[in-house]
Amino acid sequence: MNHLKSMTIPEIGEVLKELGQPAFRAKQVFSWLHKGVRSFEEMTNLPKSLRDTLESGYPICAPEVVRKQTSKKDGTIKYLWKLSDGNCVETVLMRYHYGNTVCISTEVGCRMGCAFCASTLGGLVRPLEPFEMIDQVLFTQVDSGLPVSHIVLMGIGEPLDNMENVLRFLELVNSPEGMNISMRHISLSTCGLVPKIDELGDKKLQISLAISLHGPNNEIRNRIMPVNKAYPIEQLIPACRRYYEKTSRRIHFEYAMIQGVNDTPEHAKQLLSLLKGLPSHVNMIPLNHVEESPYKPSTKSAVAAFQKILEDGGVTATVRRTLGSDIDASCGQLRRKYTRQTEND
Ligand code: SAH
Repeated sequence: MNHLKSMTIPEIGEVLKELGQPAFRAKQVFSWLHKGVRSFEEMTNLPKSLRDTLESGYPICAPEVVRKQTSKKDGTIKYLWKLSDGNCVETVLMRYHYGNTVCISTEVGCRMGCAFCASTLGGLVRPLEPFEMIDQVLFTQVDSGLPVSHIVLMGIGEPLDNMENVLRFLELVNSPEGMNISMRHISLSTCGLVPKIDELGDKKLQISLAISLHGPNNEIRNRIMPVNKAYPIEQLIPACRRYYEKTSRRIHFEYAMIQGVNDTPEHAKQLLSLLKGLPSHVNMIPLNHVEESPYKPSTKSAVAAFQKILEDGGVTATVRRTLGSDIDASCGQLRRKYTRQTEND
């Protein structure tokens, strides 16, 4: 399918050239699409005949809101969208002091199999197209009326398992004629696909790279993250060092605190020695309980002790605030619930 919203301005220019249109129209079409119009009819500075031609040849898809939940605690909004083929993905809007951040999905489902994550329970259905990632940012803004300044690729799916579409999304969302979101305001999180981390590093983008580490050694990581069997820690950490050398961007490590699995002082010390000499930041995430999973969040005191060991060792570590905990706002929980409900209907 020819989705103009997945195309760059020069690519739209090629399409318009075929239709005998001047090059400057490409920017106009691009800007309209990235403002969230739902039809070519709304592109009022284009000639009527061109609007009609485009309308008959090119679809403009927009996701439909299936569920919208707003946290009473902190204003976090969670959307469950229905895509044009009926599949559903989630987007979360979080309100921070520095601006509104959207957490977007990059795939329908996920094939990485992490033991604590709701997104992977039904496997991978399909990767998202670039415009489907754009639409999550766009229509979250349109629906909520809140401007978005930051994006995290930390929703459903593994972004580096959908590399080509994700790179294109980054280019489109960064475009001055579109949403113009700075690369420095974008974070991409991966479970650790080493060759793709190298590939991403070669692009030298100014985005932040977050690594879902969740364990300081192979024994623990193998247990909870199957990807570690393909790319163990002795490959992952050097890949992070290479990424840092290429981009000069400090690496963020996500560490979900799981009771009795990865949260002892000994684990904190192992983590310290693993990260030695690598400019990094550890983001400790209190585990969100997933119904199908046996894992439980660590106690507050275990989290505090872990954090102190890291800080004393010279690694900055923050405990992520849990936003939207009253609205299933973590990783695939809403989609999972919805899919289960419709299966049972
Ligand atoms: N696939 C990517 C991005 C999506 S997940 C990745 O693995 O990084 C975003 C983050 O949420 C990851 O760090 C993931 O491990 C974490 N996560 C998944 N399920 C969680 C849960 N139940 N509690 C806390 N964090 C979770």
